[in-house]
Amino acid sequence: MPRKPLIAANWKMYKTPAQAQEFMKNFLPLVANHHRDEIVVCPSFTSISVVIAAATGSGVAIGAQNMHFADEGAYTGETSPLMLKAIGATHVILGHSERRQYFAENDELINKKLKSALHHALIPIVCVGEVLAEREAGKTEQVLLRQTRGVLAGIAASAAAPIVIAYEPVWAIGTGKTATPQIAAEAHAVIRNEVNKLLGAEIAANLRILYGGSVKPDNATALMAETEIDGALVGGASLDPQSFAKIVNY
Ligand code: PEP
Repeated sequence: MPRKPLIAANWKMYKTPAQAQEFMKNFLPLVANHHRDEIVVCPSFTSISVVIAAATGSGVAIGAQNMHFADEGAYTGETSPLMLKAIGATHVILGHSERRQYFAENDELINKKLKSALHHALIPIVCVGEVLAEREAGKTEQVLLRQTRGVLAGIAASAAAPIVIAYEPVWAIGTGKTATPQIAAEAHAVIRNEVNKLLGAEIAANLRILYGGSVKPDNATALMAETEIDGALVGGASLDPQSFAKIVNY
């Protein structure tokens, strides 16, 4: 069975609930009857409910950009997987490089969140990727292996099927610099090969690995033409309904 591509919007800390609703009003007609790819929109927490309401019946799924690993507790400012489930979110982005860079998230913490997301049947989109200095030092493969092993530590193959990995080279996020399809495909192959070793051939063969980093309407087709690339995690270009719809309809 071919892997169904997944195109996810990461709105980061943009859009009020009213702006999010306006986006959905304009976006949904542009992707009506689109069945080839799974479409996921990840707004900030305050807009998740309105976006879920707007997306009802559309086939577009809604996710969060982060979560805590605990079900509940004295964790001021955090949001739990139970809370996300309760409002109807189905996906969650974990370990985005901005979380790693600005909020000190590391593989150990992301691994706890990943286990919790799987436990609560939220589809995790787990991000890995090297920074520019690591790429220039020839350490990309080493970094991807460390992160892949770290985030997947202790996860059984029997639980791993829902996992989606996003390869996001940090030097390409929000910079306008995109990895070439070949660079992305090479990195995806490193990740898939390692997942094969850790979780077996079946999980590896079915694992969707998204590319993220300055995906735009004009480069989406070339990226998606790579058989190793199973979709995209889109930041800046997902904020505009026309632009995100063009990417979805690559
Ligand atoms: C992202 O936020 O995951 C991302 C890839 O951002 P951008 O598309 O803006 O580079």
